[in-house]
Amino acid sequence: MSTNATISKVAFIGLGIMGGPMAANLVKAGYEVTGFNLTQPPIDALVAAGGKGATSIADAVAGADAVITMVPADPQVEAVMFGADGVLDNVAPGTLVIDMSSIKPSTSIAVGTAGAAKGLRVLDAPVSGGEAGAIEAVLSIMVGGEAADFAAAQPLFDALGKTIVHVGPYGAGQTVKAANQLIVAGNIQLVAEALLFLERAGVDTEAGLKVLGGGLAGSTVMARKGDSMRDRNFKPGFRIDLHHKDMGIVSEAARELGLVLPFGALATTLVAALRAQGDGDLDHSGLLLGLERLNGLADSPSDSAANTGNTGKVNA
Ligand code: NAD
Repeated sequence: MSTNATISKVAFIGLGIMGGPMAANLVKAGYEVTGFNLTQPPIDALVAAGGKGATSIADAVAGADAVITMVPADPQVEAVMFGADGVLDNVAPGTLVIDMSSIKPSTSIAVGTAGAAKGLRVLDAPVSGGEAGAIEAVLSIMVGGEAADFAAAQPLFDALGKTIVHVGPYGAGQTVKAANQLIVAGNIQLVAEALLFLERAGVDTEAGLKVLGGGLAGSTVMARKGDSMRDRNFKPGFRIDLHHKDMGIVSEAARELGLVLPFGALATTLVAALRAQGDGDLDHSGLLLGLERLNGLADSPSDSAANTGNTGKVNA
C-alpha cells in the first residue's frame, strides 16, 4: 500500500487472551481481518466473529495493508517476524507492521531496523488494560516508531484502545510498557498486603477497599482485581508466567541503564517465587497467595491449582 492509502486488510497473528478480542474488535470496526494462531480454536472463533482464517503466517499476511502481531514473548516475536515463513519476508514494501506483544526494547529495535531496511513501516505498540481492556476496546497503547507511521496506524489503534500515545522511536513503546509492569506488580503486591492486613484486623474488606478506592490509595489494580482477590479467584487474566517475563525485561533494561530499582527487585523476586512454586498459570493477583504462604496461611504449593477458580477464602 502507499503510505497515504486507507487501511482495509489487516492480518492478525496470535489470537490468544488479548489477540482474540482485539482481532474481533477490528472486524467490528469494519476491517477485513485474517487471523493466524498456533492452535485452531481461536482461528475458528475469529471466523465466527466475521473474520477469515489463514493456514500460515505467509497466508495471513498476503495482500495485507497492515499486520498486527500479539504473541507471548521475544522468541515468538522473532520467529513470527524473521522466520522463513515470517512477516518481514512476506509483506509488500509500505506495509504497516505493528507488534503489540510485550517484549524487550532491544528486540523491537531489531525488528524496526530490519523492517525499515525492507521499506516496511514498523511500530512497537504494547498495551495495558488486560483481557477486559481488550474486550472493551479501552486499552492503553504505548507506541514506538516513526511519527508518520504512528499517524497512519491511528485508525487501527482507535478500534482497540482509548489512551493511545506515541512515546518515541523504535523500542520506546516497550520501555514504557516495562515501566507499566513495574508499577502493576508493585501495586498488586501492596493491595494484597493491605487486604491481608485488613482481614487479620477483622475489618470488612469490601467496605475497606471501597473507601480506599476513593482516596489516594485507589488504583486500577484495586478497582479491577480487588473483588476477585477478596474471593481468592486467581483465574487469568494476565498469567504470572507473562509477568515474570516482563519483570525480566524491567530488570535487564534497568541494569543496562545502570539503575537500581529496589522495590522493583523485590516485586520481581515475589513474582518469580510464585512461579517457582508451580503457579505460573495463575493470574498475577495470585501474588496474594504467595503472601499468604509467607505468612503460613495458604495451602501447600501443590494444592494451588485449585485457585485458578473461585475456591472461597483461605482462613486468615
Ligand atoms: P496468550 O498466551 O493467551 O496468547 C498468545 C497467542 O499467540 C497464543 O494463542 C499462541 O498460540 C499464539 N502464538 C504463539 N506463537 C505463535 C506463532 N509463531 N504464530 C502464530 N501464533 C502464535 O497470551 P496473551 O495473554 O494474549 O498475551 C500476548 C502478549 O500481550 C504478551 O506479550 C503479553 O505479555 C501481552 N499482554 C497481555 C495482557 C493480558 O492481560 N493477558 C495484558 C497486556 C499485555
